[in-house]
Amino acid sequence: MKTIFSQIIDREIPSSIVYEDDLVIAFLDITQATPGHTLVVTKVPYQNIFEVPEETLKHLFAVVQKLSKAIFKAFDAKGLNLLNNNMPEAGQTVFHYHVHIIPRYEKEEVTFKLTNHMSTLNSDAYKKRAAMIIAALS
Ligand code: 5GP
Repeated sequence: MKTIFSQIIDREIPSSIVYEDDLVIAFLDITQATPGHTLVVTKVPYQNIFEVPEETLKHLFAVVQKLSKAIFKAFDAKGLNLLNNNMPEAGQTVFHYHVHIIPRYEKEEVTFKLTNHMSTLNSDAYKKRAAMIIAALS
């Protein structure tokens, strides 16, 4: 079963495409969380960041930067969020790798609420968590 984004890539369903090359495509997110909200999508339907080859990811992020600059300028934005949800627990709904570019404006309401747990953690807890990541890198 093709993903909805593969159907867009293959022109089986309509979309507002703003950029395309051999590896990636970018089109307006249908919801337009803010004016100019754009998705940058791999042409190959990798499900999430864990599957995307490094070279493709490097290229995709170069395109993300180029489009971010264009969107920021075109919409006279005041800020900009990048968002990439991986897996349902993280809010992913379309299982085809993509990065959201979300330009932000004064008084615009978009909520990304990150809870601050600082008051419940001591220095050992930070050390332990950092050590877990460092160990997993090797
Ligand atoms: P996720 O929740 O996986 O991070 O993001 C998926 C995004 O795809 C959502 O923001 C949703 O609005 C967008 N989307 C889903 N279906 C379509 C569609 O048919 N066309 C376009 N342009 N965007 C879509």
